[in-house]
Amino acid sequence: MKLLRSDGDATLYENRDEVRCPACGDPFSRILLTERREHSFDLAEAARLCVSREESRLVVCTHG
Ligand SMILES: [Zn+2]
Repeated sequence: MKLLRSDGDATLYENRDEVRCPACGDPFSRILLTERREHSFDLAEAARLCVSREESRLVVCTHG
């Protein structure tokens, strides 16, 4: 996984290891881990967006 962006309460990774999405089971393109209550997304390159809620954070996976 390659770190693309991190600003304290939100971290974005690119998937280079075929890690599978917790929601659909397919390898995702990027994953966002966020502790914020709200988030906006620009989905220009995503064919699918998957969301998984954990206890203290939200997990968002995009598939290209
Ligand atoms: Zn998925």
